[in-house]
Amino acid sequence: MNQTIAVIRGDGIGPEIVGEALGVLDAVAAKFGHTFTYKEAPMGGCAIDRFGVPLPEESLAACLAADSVLLGAVGGPKWDGQPPVNRPERGLLRLREAMGLYTNVRPARMFADLAAACPLRADIAARGIDFVVVRELIGGVYFGQHTTTEIDGEQKAVDIMSYTEHEIRRVARVAFQMARKRRRRVTSVDKANVLDTSRLWRKTVTAVAEEYPDVELLHMYVDNAAMQIVRDPGQFDVIVTENLFGDILSDEASQITGSIGMIPSSSMGEGTRGMYEPIHGSAPDIAGQDKANPIGTILAAAMMLRYSFDMETEAGAVEAAVDAVLKEGWRCGDIMQGGGTPVGCREMGRLIRERI
Ligand code: NAD
Repeated sequence: MNQTIAVIRGDGIGPEIVGEALGVLDAVAAKFGHTFTYKEAPMGGCAIDRFGVPLPEESLAACLAADSVLLGAVGGPKWDGQPPVNRPERGLLRLREAMGLYTNVRPARMFADLAAACPLRADIAARGIDFVVVRELIGGVYFGQHTTTEIDGEQKAVDIMSYTEHEIRRVARVAFQMARKRRRRVTSVDKANVLDTSRLWRKTVTAVAEEYPDVELLHMYVDNAAMQIVRDPGQFDVIVTENLFGDILSDEASQITGSIGMIPSSSMGEGTRGMYEPIHGSAPDIAGQDKANPIGTILAAAMMLRYSFDMETEAGAVEAAVDAVLKEGWRCGDIMQGGGTPVGCREMGRLIRERI
């Protein structure tokens, strides 16, 4: 297979972690007989320095023309003084919008060998954690009208939360399709006892479920879901929810698995093209010191193989290589809890490549 990947190295530790992920993709290409062509797409602070804007038109065009996009992270204190319209994050928001990425997927998976980093009780962690949060990304209250007015000397703020059936249907389909590649169980999270948007959410997800009779659908209120994620995370396979609830639950879900440096994420729209990145930022405090953990970005590349290129075996090979390296005790600084042999970003990348 030939695939073109737009590569956004970004700022801070971005170039270091993306370099290791590309090395892993090269190892996959060599082992399985694929060709991956990388197109550099400068974005973020580095693009402001070189081109004056966070997302140059050439970079946007390269991402739109590619089969998928791999991103490190953007931003850092150097660009904090930029006007809001020219901040590095603006490039990211504009790119998401231009690519029509309406779904964000974040796995919450605990590596057995990192159980010591799990903040949950040992007996809960021992039951295993392996689920994904599918979050609607470009609708709901974050994209509704926001107003603040003054009435009789008192300030009043209003944020409008709205959803259409169409917006709910398309993200629900992503969740059901994902469940088909996993354990075939979707938990739809809402607040249907209070909110109209949630009642429409529940009705629409239930209707979509009829297209997927092989997938089990459960409904859960968001307050209960927040509780269940820490009480019994083993019950979840795929959680699907709207933007605000997903923002909060996906952060909760990633925290229970251990280090921020280990977790990948994907944003998808229509078709198979997606944007894949680690969940962390550009970590300017450790940039350029070979201290960053590249595993989140390497696992993001594995998600790209699975979800954009339908390369299940190849994705599994990357995940197995990561598992093997952890089992052998190799650790970057952020996952040193419980001991192990310390390695830097480059060496961690090399060890994973070697095991593919
Ligand atoms: P951060 O995620 O960059 O760092 C938080 C802490 O985690 C730091 O101590 C950092 O050293 C550590 N850390 C993060 N990733 C790590 C890794 N791979 N290995 C080891 N340690 C790691 O969050 P922050 O400090 O709040 O943000 C720094 C910059 O990143 C800001 O400019 C922010 O706007 C930006 N940011 C970008 C994205 C993105 O590009 N998607 C996301 C979040 C934050």
